[in-house]
Amino acid sequence: MNNSVYSLSTFNWQKLLHEWEESSLVLPFLLDGLYKDRSIWEKHLSKKLVENIEKNYNLNLPTISTVQEAQDGTIKFLVKFIDGFEVETVLIPFHKRFTVCLSTQVGCAMNCSFCYTGTQGYKRNLSSGEIVSQYLLARKWLKDKSPTSLDPSIVFMGQGEPLHNVDEVKNAIEILNDPKMIGIGKRQMTLSTVGHLSGIHKIKDFPQINFALSLHSPFQEERSKLIPINESNRLIEVIQALDEIPLLPRQFITYEYLLIKDFNMSDKHVEGLTTLLKKRKAIINLIPFNPFPGSQWQRPGADEIESFKNKLVANKLRVMIRTTKGAEILAACGQLKVNKLARDKDARSE
Ligand code: SF4
Repeated sequence: MNNSVYSLSTFNWQKLLHEWEESSLVLPFLLDGLYKDRSIWEKHLSKKLVENIEKNYNLNLPTISTVQEAQDGTIKFLVKFIDGFEVETVLIPFHKRFTVCLSTQVGCAMNCSFCYTGTQGYKRNLSSGEIVSQYLLARKWLKDKSPTSLDPSIVFMGQGEPLHNVDEVKNAIEILNDPKMIGIGKRQMTLSTVGHLSGIHKIKDFPQINFALSLHSPFQEERSKLIPINESNRLIEVIQALDEIPLLPRQFITYEYLLIKDFNMSDKHVEGLTTLLKKRKAIINLIPFNPFPGSQWQRPGADEIESFKNKLVANKLRVMIRTTKGAEILAACGQLKVNKLARDKDARSE
């Protein structure tokens, strides 16, 4: 049964309680039992209600097929759903708190040329319950190891384009944010898109989560070589759509910029980025490219990275360099790839 109980929002639960002729007063106990301690159900829920939930919904979390830990503390889970499909979920250490990188689709239809996931093709969307379940699994794993650890924050940057599955992602964000359910603050969540225009229009009024755009080139034609959807979802229109997102005073849009050797790091690119972003509430996140098996692009040297950054800073842009995490277990950005078939195929061709 792929009807995950973790897909249900408070509103859905209220409707269900009404349908099942149960008092709405049990809702806090129901949610505490589901997300904190199942023994609460025995004390506060009728047997009939528990039976109704168990009969109609799948209460199990997906299983963890493998766990890989990198030396820098990054942990990559291969998470298996009830139909056998798998995605990768990554816990990334960041100062005193972990961030969990959630997948939103099995595979991806966007086919970006810098991305390992893109080589795998699209299989299916994840339901909101499957997205939320990845978070619950990763958090449980972390708390089992270190009970005092803080709840991880969230980035939607795993496998898939989140806005290509916008309705399920929106529902997942509501459930993750709801203080009666999981209670992750909106500012603790960042959604990254390659520029899915209709998705941006659908989600832009979703207040106060953070947004990131995979930019990678300030030039329309060049960017299309990296991100094919850029041909139909034109960069200038994507930027204008992002301009419409209401931001809090200290909130910025993050523009992710992969640093690719001999491709997008010239002075022309510095000028292009300056023209595009100088007047915007923008942070540029420079990400040195992480090679993967068969990739056509190369990583620049440390000096080139530093020099490119300094030129942007000299033009008064806000710039960060993202340190690569988990590269040796292919858990870094753009390196995630899904299923056993793909892994077996890679192993055979090595
Ligand atoms: S970068 Fe993101 S959108 Fe592009 S292929 Fe990879 S997972 Fe899909």
